[in-house]
Amino acid sequence: MTKERIYNFNPGPAALPLVVLEEIRENFLNFNGSGMSITEISHRSKEFDDVINDAVARTKRLLNLEDNFQVLFIQGGASMQFCMIPMNFLSADKSADYVDTGTWSTKAIKEAEIQGKSIHVVASSADKNYCYIPQNIPFNDGADLVHLTSNNTIKGTQWAEFPDTNGVPIFCDMSSDIMSRPLDAAKFGLIYAGAQKNAGPAGVCLVIIRNDMLDLVPDTVPTMLKYTTYSAKNSLYNTPPCFAVYTVQLVLKWLEDTVGGLRKMAALNQKKAQLLYDLFDAGSFYRATAEPDSRSLMNITFRLPDEELEQQFIRDALENGMGGLKGHRSVGGCRASLYNAVSLDAVEVLADFMATFERKYG
Ligand SMILES: *Cc1c(COP(=O)(O)O)cnc(C)c1O
Repeated sequence: MTKERIYNFNPGPAALPLVVLEEIRENFLNFNGSGMSITEISHRSKEFDDVINDAVARTKRLLNLEDNFQVLFIQGGASMQFCMIPMNFLSADKSADYVDTGTWSTKAIKEAEIQGKSIHVVASSADKNYCYIPQNIPFNDGADLVHLTSNNTIKGTQWAEFPDTNGVPIFCDMSSDIMSRPLDAAKFGLIYAGAQKNAGPAGVCLVIIRNDMLDLVPDTVPTMLKYTTYSAKNSLYNTPPCFAVYTVQLVLKWLEDTVGGLRKMAALNQKKAQLLYDLFDAGSFYRATAEPDSRSLMNITFRLPDEELEQQFIRDALENGMGGLKGHRSVGGCRASLYNAVSLDAVEVLADFMATFERKYG
């Protein structure tokens, strides 16, 4: 009945560190001596306060955030942020520059357009099916914010460096690469990340916001859609997703105490991705879909010579204990998501399997 755990390359929800899952199991029936599970205790209790405060403190330490940033936990996923950002920061006299690097940025743009906000799509890689990150972007000096997606989960591209926006604050969707590398927060006004890719389970979105941005929020925004509601109450205006926040806290603890911080994490992530990209570059059987200077270290998207082989590849991989390798339904092909919790071991096993598969069918 109990199947061994497989190597999990899912795009999201995605792998969590085994030690985190074990810690959850260990403490599940009796959280910190409370005699209750974390899913049964009050969000107003001392126990939960300690959890959320620790998650905030660890986020600040890991990302090297100064005191002018706040860390919030909001429900509704990253998709809710697509609509909250224009609602809170683009009142009538304001405008935003958006860069379209694929599915998720396209959706963010749509949510601003639905609300009739003044936005400019200043660059797009739609002309080549989003296989690259645009360079030399003509940002508007008068813009109030620039919206970017740091890692394009579906298209397999990632900003290696963030662009110079002439001091206009960047609002960034980091859902699929938050905590994968060190951050220089100085350029950012707001960062958000649905937890279920690289930071925890589904149900909570991590939001990092610069204090001065909060002054811009109009009173007319409904309470639950206003960033100030969350910042005024330490994300406890109403009941937060306690279990999700708790799991995020454990993931952050693992990053700090076991991995040893984001510099170490980034080096490991680089090594993991390199194993697969090296394999692609050494032959012509596997073809990376992203251009070399735009390749994601988190989501490695690739094609095989034909679709039949791709299906067989996904089937054979699963039979060999490797799951989640199917590309997004909108683009097809294959994708290996190598988030923080995916170990170097797992990627070595995958790379070996891929080399064998190529020898057999190449
Ligand atoms: C998955 C994903 C989203 C959507 O997240 P939800 O939490 O499901 O709304 C948005 N942006 C990026 C970059 C993603 O990878």
